[in-house]
Amino acid sequence: MGSTNWQEQNADPRMDKLTPDKRCLCRECGEFFNSVKGFTLHRYTGADGARLCRTISDLEGRGWFLDKDGFWRTERMPGTAISGRRRHE
Ligand SMILES: [Zn+2]
Repeated sequence: MGSTNWQEQNADPRMDKLTPDKRCLCRECGEFFNSVKGFTLHRYTGADGARLCRTISDLEGRGWFLDKDGFWRTERMPGTAISGRRRHE
């Protein structure tokens, strides 16, 4: 009956907002991404060939931001006002 064991293992409300083809969760760092592209971009290959995740500060430095649902976006949607998400130093 469409068992979703992966949801039961995680109480994060963002789990309910995941979509199979778009929004995704990184099992390595636990961050959520609004697009497969974003997920792919946050991964990189380290000097020893290991697959690594970029840190949050690294993502922010690249202009990424969390949308209202807590998913990382790589760029702002034109005409979409997302205010109050500025970094607090
Ligand atoms: Zn990651």
